Amino acid sequence: MPKPVICNEGSSKCLAADLAKGPLENGSGVFFRTGPSTLMVEPTNVCNLHCPACPTGAGILNRPPRAMSFDEFKGILNQALDPPGYLRRVTLFNYGEPFLCKDLLRMVRYAADRGLETFTSTNGQFLGGGKIATRWSRAG
Ligand code: SF4
Repeated sequence: MPKPVICNEGSSKCLAADLAKGPLENGSGVFFRTGPSTLMVEPTNVCNLHCPACPTGAGILNRPPRAMSFDEFKGILNQALDPPGYLRRVTLFNYGEPFLCKDLLRMVRYAADRGLETFTSTNGQFLGGGKIATRWSRAG
């Protein structure tokens, strides 16, 4: 039997649950059941800056500019939470300034209410002298 491959950074609790269920064989190896531990979403692909090394900043991102709606976010997160017990963290940024998404703090609250860590990366232009950071920490 090939050596089991565990390709998920899930917690030891998840791993123990996987091991208890036993391995799956797919013909090319033996795998344990897992779910994602981290979900990365892009609240918006719009940005106020023009960093040349960034596809959005350089104007070469091959997608129309838009922001994710709260309902879209909820749907994606709920999918990532199934099967339950694996997802631990949601990152809220990619090619855009996340604080330009009007529903960002609502997304943080929704994730936090499900016991998930949240984090983001920002250019800092909309932090309002610490007020936004305080609202984030209160949201989740
Ligand atoms: S998303 Fe980030 S890296 Fe890209 S242009 Fe905006 S601030 Fe710069």
